[in-house]
Amino acid sequence: MAEKCELCNEKIEETFLGKLNGTTVRVEKNTRTGFVYVCNNCQRQHGNELIKNVNKA
Ligand SMILES: [Zn+2]
Repeated sequence: MAEKCELCNEKIEETFLGKLNGTTVRVEKNTRTGFVYVCNNCQRQHGNELIKNVNKA
């Protein structure tokens, strides 16, 4: 099951440990789970603005 990054829509790869190569962000908007996935690149790129930008996306 592949998750997609909320910001860039890239597929988030799993590491060899079976963990997602990214992070989950809790969002205010309604999603099925209440959080979305963000890849490592976007996490790094958006830094402290990450949550704000995800909620805008
Ligand atoms: Zn991304």
